[in-house]
Amino acid sequence: MSEIKLVFEEPKQRKKAPQHLADLTPEERRAKAIELGLPAFRANQIATHYFTHFSDDPETWTDIPATMRPLVAEHFMPKLITLVKSVDCDNGKTRKDLWKLHDGVMVESVIMRYKDRTTVCISSQAGCGMNCPFCATGQAGLTRNLTAGEITAQIVAAAKACNDGEIGEDPTRLSNVVFMGMGEPLANYNPVIRTVRNIISPNPDGLGIGARSVTVSTVGLVPGIEKLMKEDIQVTLAISLHTPDDELRDTLVPINSRWKVKEVLMAADAYSDNTGRRYSVEYAMIRDINDQAWRADLLGRLLKNRDAHVNLIPLNPTPGSKWTASRKKDEMEFVKILEDYGVTVTVRDTRGREIDGACGQLAAAEKV
Ligand code: SAH
Repeated sequence: MSEIKLVFEEPKQRKKAPQHLADLTPEERRAKAIELGLPAFRANQIATHYFTHFSDDPETWTDIPATMRPLVAEHFMPKLITLVKSVDCDNGKTRKDLWKLHDGVMVESVIMRYKDRTTVCISSQAGCGMNCPFCATGQAGLTRNLTAGEITAQIVAAAKACNDGEIGEDPTRLSNVVFMGMGEPLANYNPVIRTVRNIISPNPDGLGIGARSVTVSTVGLVPGIEKLMKEDIQVTLAISLHTPDDELRDTLVPINSRWKVKEVLMAADAYSDNTGRRYSVEYAMIRDINDQAWRADLLGRLLKNRDAHVNLIPLNPTPGSKWTASRKKDEMEFVKILEDYGVTVTVRDTRGREIDGACGQLAAAEKV
């Protein structure tokens, strides 16, 4: 157990980010307005500016008296994230943003516009404590948890970029949010749940994005999955499995030494029974490590009667890694074996590769 405690602890005590509207529940927002001597309805106006119009500059809010704006700015809208740089590819349809937080810590988010949807992939922690050897973020360890305000700010910024026509040729609506950037979301539980509520609450309290369009991806922290199930929110759960056998998974996803493959899948089954939501099994295809036909067979047997969908991710090799992506023929055979078991499979595209914005490559702290 002591090992687990270590993983969840933040290395250093730091000055916390200033409190923001997005850190609070709608009730707390109103209570805070009253505390500041403002009528409660001001909280709704502020939330509308932020979540509906994606504006974070109270000086431009003409429905708030000019004399009140500095107070509102200080207590509800402190600047939490500052853009350091953006890089794009795919004709501007994929963009990676690098953000600096109040204490100089850096995180990244990636916006991807597809034909039928636009997704933002956000960071929930600076760095990550899970130490998966194939993931760039895992190499540097955990710097600190992000606050709900800091996570939400990445999403609001993405929604604004879409709305302003910065992603692709014309304006679009941000439709999906995936917790697949830096960090392990279930190791930063409360801020992540507050953020999920900010995403799914209808206006004025949140962005009004459907819960089903939100994906929380985890290494398999079983108590976190169980807690998430009890929230009764229909977000999609993704399990980063990467191999069906405990022996290899102990290496690829070290937290497996605490929660084994079967325990993780049972927690995910319970989640899907309770929410009616099919879950995703994420599987990074690593050449000659986890891509053998016998492993596909084992995975097929493990998943055939489960409400799970497999997402194969061609490995994005991280700098200095001895591992590389699977051969195309091995990948195709892997898919075929799973399909023969009646398991649905997709192979994820490698959007953002050339800007180091693809899965597992977000390692901002190292690059700056
Ligand atoms: N901590 C969460 C979110 C991490 S990133 C989790 O582990 O689920 C989202 C996905 O990208 C995870 O499935 C992760 O294992 C995968 N990933 C990490 N590094 C990768 C790499 N180099 N190539 C392909 N996928 C990778």
